[in-house]
Amino acid sequence: MILQTPLLPSAGLAKITGARTVDLKLECLQHTGAFKVRGAANKMLSLSDEEKKRGVITFSTGNHGKAVAYVAGKMGIRAVVCLSEHVASYRVQAIRQLGAEVSVKGHSQDEAEKNYQDLVSAEGLIPVLPFDDPMIIAGQGTIALEILSTLPDADVLLIPLSGGGLLAGIAMAAKSINPGIHIVGLSIEQSPAMLESLKAGRPVQVEEKDSIADSLLGGIGYVNRHTLPLVEKFTDEHLLISEEEIKNGMHYVFENHRLIVEGAAAVGVGALIDQRMDVKGNTVVTLLSGNSINSRDYVSIIQHRLIDDDN
Ligand SMILES: *Cc1c(COP(=O)(O)O)cnc(C)c1O
Repeated sequence: MILQTPLLPSAGLAKITGARTVDLKLECLQHTGAFKVRGAANKMLSLSDEEKKRGVITFSTGNHGKAVAYVAGKMGIRAVVCLSEHVASYRVQAIRQLGAEVSVKGHSQDEAEKNYQDLVSAEGLIPVLPFDDPMIIAGQGTIALEILSTLPDADVLLIPLSGGGLLAGIAMAAKSINPGIHIVGLSIEQSPAMLESLKAGRPVQVEEKDSIADSLLGGIGYVNRHTLPLVEKFTDEHLLISEEEIKNGMHYVFENHRLIVEGAAAVGVGALIDQRMDVKGNTVVTLLSGNSINSRDYVSIIQHRLIDDDN
């Protein structure tokens, strides 16, 4: 159900940063176009037969929703994805095509979440949360096992950070193998919910602005039980990444590696290009977490960069 994704060396990024090596972990090639199938599969395969019979439910519109739909399809179990009326039709279609039922209700994400809670009580469906669940966190951690089986001497891992399931899983697994490994969390300036929550010592909401890294938008949940303490414990360095740096990262991997990635996946490359941290002499891995972006947005970002370069 999961692809073991390759590590691609980037001689160019090693040169820019003075690192010994820089490798890109290509989760943009994962089934459904993002790493989220790892957590979803680990969670859903751990359900009892009785729970599988009842089916699962989630309210994510993005990569997590797709992952739950995909895994449910493979397992032959029922999956319901709750969406608001504002979710773009190409996303609704993608989720339906993977075989999930879509329940469209309400004008906002909050109303979609209300519908989700009603369905959990009324139909006894099993919630599959996007990040704050030990089985989801452990599933994302398999990325670290793959990286360290190929590069046992990796010193620095650059991980995009939003709800924190990805970073918590990778950091915990990596540090249990190599306690000295340096974990860098990359949040976006437009929506640094995890960073603000770490400062406050409890989950806080931040004002959310649009970002080209839309998979990193969103809060960490009013009630956060797992990812906030784990991210606090296992992250060695935090960086805030700008929209400009994200675009630089997307453009760099296209120009130099012919890879198409979404904004959320490009934060690490953007930070390396701008030399936001000292990685001289290190073995560095940056995670390209997904490729879910529509053609129109993608072309416009790359095109702007090409016009800037020509001038
Ligand atoms: C979900 C997601 C992230 C962030 O993962 P969290 O567990 O929420 O921190 C990063 N990149 C992509 C492409 C994602 O879909």
